[in-house]
Amino acid sequence: MSDVFDVVILGGGSGGYACALRASQLGLKVALVEKDKLGGTCLHRGCIPTKALLHAGEVAHTVKHSAEFGINSTLTGVDMTAVNTYKDGVVGRLYKGLQGLVKHRGVTYIEGAGKLVAADTVEVNGQQIKGKHVVLATGSYSRTLPGLEIDGEKIITSEHALNLTSVPTKSIILGGGVIGVEFAGAWNSLGSDVTIIEGLSRLIPADDEDMSKGLEKAFRRLGIKFNVGVRFKSVEKTATGVKVILEDGKEFDADILLVAVGRGPSSRGMGYEEVGVAYAGEHIAVDQFCRTNLPNVFAVGDLIPGPQLAHVGFQEGILVAEKIAGLNPRPIDYAGVPRVTYCDPEVASMGLTEVQAAEKYGKDNIATFKYDLAGNGKTQILKSAGLIKLIREKNGPVVGIHMVGARAGEMIAEAQLIYNWEAMPEDVAPLLHAHPTVSEAMGEAHLALAGKPLHVHD
Ligand SMILES: Cc1cc2nc3c(=O)[nH]c(=O)nc-3n(C[C@H](O)[C@H](O)[C@H](O)COP(=O)(O)OP(=O)(O)OC[C@H]3O[C@@H](n4cnc5c(N)ncnc54)[C@H](O)[C@@H]3O)c2cc1C
Repeated sequence: MSDVFDVVILGGGSGGYACALRASQLGLKVALVEKDKLGGTCLHRGCIPTKALLHAGEVAHTVKHSAEFGINSTLTGVDMTAVNTYKDGVVGRLYKGLQGLVKHRGVTYIEGAGKLVAADTVEVNGQQIKGKHVVLATGSYSRTLPGLEIDGEKIITSEHALNLTSVPTKSIILGGGVIGVEFAGAWNSLGSDVTIIEGLSRLIPADDEDMSKGLEKAFRRLGIKFNVGVRFKSVEKTATGVKVILEDGKEFDADILLVAVGRGPSSRGMGYEEVGVAYAGEHIAVDQFCRTNLPNVFAVGDLIPGPQLAHVGFQEGILVAEKIAGLNPRPIDYAGVPRVTYCDPEVASMGLTEVQAAEKYGKDNIATFKYDLAGNGKTQILKSAGLIKLIREKNGPVVGIHMVGARAGEMIAEAQLIYNWEAMPEDVAPLLHAHPTVSEAMGEAHLALAGKPLHVHD
């Protein structure tokens, strides 16, 4: 290809394609190189298929528990082939839409595995694609632990877990982070006897401690088992499945072991080192505009340090496109990134945990309030439970919003406005929330933190 592009993007996942769409919208000439499928992890192996699986689980749960609402029904079985057809249908429709969008925006889409061979050149299918700017967006892969070999059958990662043709009767999930607890929720609802093994002292250890407590309480009620605070030692394959052994000698048997111990950046073997791109550990090091040490080379998404979330990748892609186009974009405030875990109950949070807020402002300079969702009508109607926890700087804005409960994921939209606009509880308290909604609990929590609780004993 003899043309020189304004931007050559390596990797067509959330970060890469968002950059391509915004750059072409700004009139830049864009090439997007992708070795697998446009849409990357989020669309094909992450956000979308996992949420479809979780929704299928919710439907099974609703049918199983319908008598609690006076509706008699019987769950006669889970047809995983049909569940996969439903899930793949959702992915397929979005994939088609995305392909159309990229084509419509005039992006030159190149299929093939690319390699950075110079600061302005990506080589793909034996061709040199030249760009005034290059954006690295090659994403991440599922990590494992030393000595823990993934065979794709009995010992699997989330990629394999999305394509099972039957529900494992008994399953072990190694890792109680976001991906681990989401699969635990889905498989439990679909009928598996699930045990989570987490080496740290609680599930979702990156979240505020009260969220872990709320989730653990809900998981106990659902019959999801978990063993926390002891690390994995080894796994043996048995005639029927796997035996997992922990460092304290405890053993667990199951049909299948899902390894969900996090994701590492796909940063090696693509010429980055050879061309002189600087690293921050395994990630690519960047400044606040996602620029690497090489002035015309940028990097976005899971490849760089920071939260591994699709919406972070989207925003970084947009930021880079606007920077390249000569606009003046605002750097991303990573504390202002909404985080949602989509098991049932959902967990959603913004800003600082209580520990982080105490570290930043001093223990005596923060105030917290926990609103128990037992007092929320809609949560009662849904037969759910949970809490909203607010953290404010004393006489200052809300610096942390943490929720566990049904539909918490949808309420994050309001939480992120409150946090990012640095609202005081007194600013939110007079805003009306529709009754009966789960979101009115957000209003109640702010009323209470502003010193005028309504449906709360004071
Ligand atoms: C099970 C699971 C569930 C998730 N759920 C959520 C969620 O609910 N919400 C959320 O926000 N995030 C979620 N994520 C995270 C989200 O998927 C990632 O943060 C996001 O996909 C990162 O985007 P990216 O562009 O950096 O990388 P990717 O989406 O991984 O895209 C990288 C692309 O680069 C391509 N590529 C790699 N090397 C080359 C090469 N040499 N040449 C050409 N192409 C190459 C790959 O094929 C891939 O398509 C989930 C992830 C997983 C695994």
